[in-house]
Amino acid sequence: MEKFNVTESFGSMVFNDVVMRERLPKETYRSLKKTIIEGKPLEYSVAQEVANAMKEWAIQKGATHYCHWFVPMTGITAEKHDSFIAPTGDDRVIMEFSGKNLIKGEPDASCFPSGGLRATFEARGYTAWDPTSPAFIKDNSLYIPTAFCSYTGQALDEKTPLLRSMDVISKQTVRLLKLLGYNSVKRVFPMVGPEQEYFLIDKAFYEKRPDLVLTGRTLIGAMPPKGQEVENHYLGTLKQRVSDFMKELDIELWKLGVMAKTKHNETAPAQHELAPVFTIANIATDHNHLTMEMMKKIALKHGLVCLLHEKPFAGVNGSGKHNNWSLLTDTGKNLLEPGENPVHNKVFLLILCAVIQAVDEYSDLLRLSIAGPGNDHRLGGHEAPPAIVSIYLGDYFTNLLENIRAGKTEVVEESQILSTGVSALPCFVLDNSDRNRTSPLAFTGNKFELRMLGSSASVAGCNTIINTIVADAISRMCDKIEAGGDIDGIVNEIVKSIMEDHSRIIFNGNNYSEEWKKEAERRGLPNNYNTVDAIECILKEKNIKLLTKHKVYSEVELQSRYEILNENYVNTIRVEALTLKSMVKEQVLPACVKYLVTLTDSYNSAQKTGLDLDIAFLEDNIKALAGDVAELSRRLGKLEKSIEESAECGLKLRDRAVSYRDKVLVDMNSVREVCDRLEGVVAKEFWPFPSYYELLFKL
Ligand code: ADP
Ligand code: MG
Repeated sequence: MEKFNVTESFGSMVFNDVVMRERLPKETYRSLKKTIIEGKPLEYSVAQEVANAMKEWAIQKGATHYCHWFVPMTGITAEKHDSFIAPTGDDRVIMEFSGKNLIKGEPDASCFPSGGLRATFEARGYTAWDPTSPAFIKDNSLYIPTAFCSYTGQALDEKTPLLRSMDVISKQTVRLLKLLGYNSVKRVFPMVGPEQEYFLIDKAFYEKRPDLVLTGRTLIGAMPPKGQEVENHYLGTLKQRVSDFMKELDIELWKLGVMAKTKHNETAPAQHELAPVFTIANIATDHNHLTMEMMKKIALKHGLVCLLHEKPFAGVNGSGKHNNWSLLTDTGKNLLEPGENPVHNKVFLLILCAVIQAVDEYSDLLRLSIAGPGNDHRLGGHEAPPAIVSIYLGDYFTNLLENIRAGKTEVVEESQILSTGVSALPCFVLDNSDRNRTSPLAFTGNKFELRMLGSSASVAGCNTIINTIVADAISRMCDKIEAGGDIDGIVNEIVKSIMEDHSRIIFNGNNYSEEWKKEAERRGLPNNYNTVDAIECILKEKNIKLLTKHKVYSEVELQSRYEILNENYVNTIRVEALTLKSMVKEQVLPACVKYLVTLTDSYNSAQKTGLDLDIAFLEDNIKALAGDVAELSRRLGKLEKSIEESAECGLKLRDRAVSYRDKVLVDMNSVREVCDRLEGVVAKEFWPFPSYYELLFKL
């Protein structure tokens, strides 16, 4: 690979601050910055100037098209490209791009999920430029990040609610900061750093697996002799092919302004991770979508396929996306930074307590925001946190808050010095909180790390919920402080009462243990362990009230999301079930029968030799095999019946979802059980699919 100058090329394909300052008239630049930093609405004349500059810049970089880039409720990005060309009337063209082209697009909304919004309103959809997320060039197109909504302004994407929630948390946090004497802060940004896990497998194997191609996960597959019990993959040396892929990925992401920072092997064989430097939530969301897209695209160039499904392989760890979250002021202060003296750091204490209160009151919404049929296979599987939401604070901060609740004034013991015992190695101060890897939501020094999110999900949804529920808790704090009185006393009271009412959500122990399940139940913490259960909370009055009060979702939007989530669940399991059915019927059963016949022929020939061979074992094998094949066929029949029953058109959508969960998924597992047993006995050359051994270890 030729030498690549990172600092020079970083962001070279992005219409970023440097380019804007260089190319926009001063006044225009200033107005645009006001919009970006303070959330002020944008004048049309400014858009016109920006469009001009963008076009010139993009054409110089080789762009011929522009496209409004958005994320409909399918969860994957959508784009429609228009070229810049416009006819001149004399059979020639000029390159044209207006302010209107920049701020508004009109894709047909009827091909995207709308959960009933379409029936109620119009098919027409709009994409609206998000000036706070920079445009970029990819494959000779100028990509313009946009929000996607219906004719009446109802959100048809994840980004619109995210942007709304960012306004809400900024407003409430600025309000709190003013009350505490920080008058210069104009805007507060939720900052997000998503760590992305993924698998890489050989493309040739992938193509022979209809389940991977159609559903993203293996629906059958026996465990190889070696799984991940020998833990030598995590942070292990990178294989050359993987390393080459990662190098190219980094370079392409850097050009697009994505700050790809960390890369390493993960716990499961063939599993890897990429973490970027954190940035403002909506940009982090766009960047994460870009990262997932580029991973898939670049993998193909290396003869690989990147799997982003939460659980591509049974029996080995699935993939998640750790969502690191904090609040940063426009003056550069991280509000979750405890500082030298956290006991007296009012801002820190209040924000920390706001998160505690918010998560305890709305743990169901947080759980919902990470729900999906893929993630159901992962949560609670001793590889990811359970579906029970709790917060890890670590002993230091737990004691600190407990002391305030108990009215104790003594200072909690300060951090300790870690010494390795080797004199040449530096000693360093231990972080105030250790890393509890089992916690769904861990305070890790100066940020919260949500570990429940699945690898394929957009980070928009969970951050929309975190921003909104924390903003609501902060707004109630503000109400109390605004009511007047001695500020130190009120802050103390707030912390005390939150600890009294909500400390049940704090759990520093092992979240994977059976005892925690019982303890959580005793504490009254919800355990919605699958998506179908988790979805129900959208319809709860307290949640509708919260989300509509802050105008993050309208009631119609919530209703539509309820439909979409149920629909998505039904569709996902249905496609999986049909894929499994066809794989078993068309490939596994015929292969088994063929092998059975071969075995029987061998047995007969062996007997005919008249050599009196000891082949009783062969007879046993044939009988066992025949038994399993008959069993597989029976179980397949049952699955087919369940699929039919669940698709029954008389059933309400909700009942269909329940039926797919309780019947179809159960029958799929029972089919899989026999299939995987058969894979272990049928001769390799007869088995129609690449094995786990090939998928996971043969790169
Ligand atoms: P680990 O895997 O040990 O949790 P990583 O370094 O892989 O740590 O990832 C940590 C992630 O958290 C990175 O994406 C990083 O940019 C992000 N991060 C660090 N500080 C903050 C912060 N204040 N707010 C949000 N995200 C942060
Ligand atoms: Mg992490």
